[in-house]
Amino acid sequence: MDKDTRKQLNLSNATSDKLSKLHLNTLADIVLYLPLRYEDETRLSTINQATIGSSVLIEGTIIKQAVQYRPRKQLLLQIKDTQNSIFFIRLFHFYPNQLKQYTENTKIRAFGELKRGFYGLEMTHPKIKTQFSDQLNPYLTPIYPTVSGLSQNTLRTIIENALSIADLEDFLPDSLLKKNELIDFKSAVLSIHYPNPERYYHEEFNQNPALKRLKFDELLAQQLSMGLIKAKRNETKKHQLNFSNKFSNILLQSLSFELTNAQKKVLHEIEEDLRQNHPMHRLLQGDVGSGKTIVAALTALKVIESGYQVAVIAPTELLAEQHFNQFQKWFDPLNLKVAWLSGSQNKKQKEQTKQEIVQGQYHIVIGTHALIQEDVKFQNLELIIIDEQHRFGVNQRLSLKQKGKEVHQLMMSATPIPRTLSMTYFADVDVSALDELPPNRTPVKTILVSEPRREEVENFAYHKIKQGRQVYWVCPLIEESEALQLTTTIETHDTLQKKFPDINIGLVHGRLQSDEKAQIMSDFKENKIQLLVATTVIEVGINVPNASTMVIEHSERMGLSQLHQLRGRVGRGENITSECILIYKTPLSDVEKLRLKVIYESNDGFEIAKQDLMIRGPGEFLGAKQSGIPLLRFANINEDWDLLELAKHTAQDLLKTSPEIVEKHLNRWLPDKETYLGV
Ligand code: ADP
Ligand code: MG
Repeated sequence: MDKDTRKQLNLSNATSDKLSKLHLNTLADIVLYLPLRYEDETRLSTINQATIGSSVLIEGTIIKQAVQYRPRKQLLLQIKDTQNSIFFIRLFHFYPNQLKQYTENTKIRAFGELKRGFYGLEMTHPKIKTQFSDQLNPYLTPIYPTVSGLSQNTLRTIIENALSIADLEDFLPDSLLKKNELIDFKSAVLSIHYPNPERYYHEEFNQNPALKRLKFDELLAQQLSMGLIKAKRNETKKHQLNFSNKFSNILLQSLSFELTNAQKKVLHEIEEDLRQNHPMHRLLQGDVGSGKTIVAALTALKVIESGYQVAVIAPTELLAEQHFNQFQKWFDPLNLKVAWLSGSQNKKQKEQTKQEIVQGQYHIVIGTHALIQEDVKFQNLELIIIDEQHRFGVNQRLSLKQKGKEVHQLMMSATPIPRTLSMTYFADVDVSALDELPPNRTPVKTILVSEPRREEVENFAYHKIKQGRQVYWVCPLIEESEALQLTTTIETHDTLQKKFPDINIGLVHGRLQSDEKAQIMSDFKENKIQLLVATTVIEVGINVPNASTMVIEHSERMGLSQLHQLRGRVGRGENITSECILIYKTPLSDVEKLRLKVIYESNDGFEIAKQDLMIRGPGEFLGAKQSGIPLLRFANINEDWDLLELAKHTAQDLLKTSPEIVEKHLNRWLPDKETYLGV
């Protein structure tokens, strides 16, 4: 926790550590801490009026105190309320001094949930006060999320103090607030902590004006920080690239297919970017199989033609190797040199490759993100292409970005980012969409099969192989134990191989050395292996057009984007019918049912991503959940679409006209989170 804040609030070290655990480090953090819920101690009720099952405040007199021992030691108080109705209070834990405090004839106020008990209506462990004034709380009582050792009362007092000393000035112009019916900051904050019961009960909480204002402020901060990042990048001057298209034209002519219109359009957008005098920062979204790799290759060629080097980063070794092979095939005839940095190379080989890269002997370098971690030096790097960008977590993306500050960046993703998300977290990125699949693809048929019918699936796969096709067989994801997942994968392989001795069955999983993996993948590509048993390592990017059947075991355990990615491994060949068979185990939970329904009903990556966002929430979607970075606390980008639009436009205005407001606002909302949000 911030030292000044600790001093201002007069906190002990222990307490301030607890607050830090709650991410409360500054006065602004504390002021903006959102209660979990409220308790209503603003009015007194009586037993006759109270609704059973709801929390109420009741005043009464203790008429009997008894300690019972069955089924275990407990304290039972019999109370008579102000209208002489009887109810009971039951305490399963109590201290000796409570026996002295809660004696007969003591007047009390109890706040708690009224339930039907053994002797009549009762409250278990209510909040009990024996000393109270006639005056009731004028506001609802906030209940905050807390950690053990920090009581509600202490936390409440700290927040109250913070509210009294913090600067709650409104930084936003009056005209903006009036026009958009936003209340002022101070009232918003105060009424979030101490809501007026009248208003609280009369408004849908989501339309609550206080919440609306804070949501807006939060989204605004986020848009401002993105805007600043973008502006900073646009200030970085670059010389314009001068490409002749001589290489790219040769590659285009050598292809066995024509580019789709979508591919042409996107390439055009990229060319425009490369001609600017500031770095490109473009996200290319295209559903699985939409043909992003050739776009990447043609982009790379333009940069190479201009005399510079290119780096391509893939999330897995498998995919990096596939790209290496593919790029070599395309670039060899052009006499361009492709380097591959892989985990399987020994130190000496690696050092040599690195040497040659810095000497400029390679035009393009392909690898995993180790390329960044190992700090590979280039002679004149001018473009980084990041494939399957969504697979990199927020922190990884961050380092890619810092590294690539001066260079052009093309990020590619098969997980389309719903518009709200891209406006929020990718606001500093330009987005292109490959919204058309190459022709003659037959859509993948999705089939749901319950576990007991697994044998039919095995026979079906065999039948397909006999027709000349190939099959992927993906084993369940076992999150709890990688070792267990390995065992099931090996067992599945052995069982299938025993059952079908006349076909070649391969096995690939994360524990294999990368050269072993590479060998198996290349055997599969050449149809030396007909059925490939795999863990989810094959999820991203792998391209084997003759493979037409994807079997996924325990599909109910997998996330939507993962299922869609896996399904995207098939249906890649022209005029080949493909199917994705999802084996599931009953009983299914509601979420599992929902996921399978979505994947069964839709082949459209955008639709699936939208549903995924609703089911999982943005944190997980962005890979930020593991990193523990709080994303949005108030706003919900699925619901607060209007506010997001407003925040976006306001941010654009403020960035142009009022740098001092921008600074104050960001200091309040994102004192040090700025870089994180600029994913
Ligand atoms: P993804 O977008 O999933 O990365 P790939 O780049 O791997 O897709 O392309 C999938 C397959 O489609 C590859 O076999 C590729 O050669 C082929 N392909 C790409 N563009 C076209 C096109 N315009 N016409 C026909 N096939 C294409
Ligand atoms: Mg790809």
